[in-house]
Amino acid sequence: MITAERKNFDEIRRMTDGAQKLLVVGCNTCVAVCLTGGEKEAEILASQLRLARKQDGIGGSVETVTVLRQCENEYLDSISEQVQKADLVLSTACSIGPQGLVFRYPTKAVVPAMNTNMMGYVKEHHVWTEYCVACGFCIIAFTGGICPIARCAKTLLNGPCGGSQGGRCEISPDVPCAWQEIYDRLAALGQLDMLKRILGPKKWNASNSGGPRTMKMEGFKP
Ligand code: SF4
Ligand code: SF4
Repeated sequence: MITAERKNFDEIRRMTDGAQKLLVVGCNTCVAVCLTGGEKEAEILASQLRLARKQDGIGGSVETVTVLRQCENEYLDSISEQVQKADLVLSTACSIGPQGLVFRYPTKAVVPAMNTNMMGYVKEHHVWTEYCVACGFCIIAFTGGICPIARCAKTLLNGPCGGSQGGRCEISPDVPCAWQEIYDRLAALGQLDMLKRILGPKKWNASNSGGPRTMKMEGFKP
């Protein structure tokens, strides 16, 4: 899932204080699961803003509405009436949400309430760990199903650096060394021979380094 955390409240105030009619739009998928931008969190943020604005003598209104996903037109279209009435839309979705709103409502001002941080796996309750950076050409078949692009601080493709100590990464004792994990996994699978295979230069042309990407399913009509 995509994870995102709410911005500092003062930053949100600076972006929104000038609006007379503010609409807070929640998203009930990834950010609802990570308890940062779903319906409940959007309503809490709207209440905090109402209170703070009232205390500071700022008039106007703060309304809120939540859609299942802000990354699809059909859901954004369902809140057209509320969006059209607002001076400013504050999105609590991951950063795809506000950009989707900009695409769908080109004349409407939209700002993000969130900082989007990663694609993560729920490793334990309320803890997400980054597992993929969407490089566009997956190589984990050769690394025991563990991604060295997302999980090794140096994105090394052919074994650990010299800083791997006791199974931990040199950037922090709190961070496991991805290559230690890859070694342990391949050992458990009886596939340590895989380590003798040298992975050549990675294809990065399918990654974001080649510019914004588009995925199109051939054979499907809009
Ligand atoms: S190799 Fe690329 S696509 Fe595969 S998990 Fe890692 S970042 Fe994601
Ligand atoms: S210690 Fe391990 S995870 Fe950290 S940079 Fe080196 S190889 Fe990568």
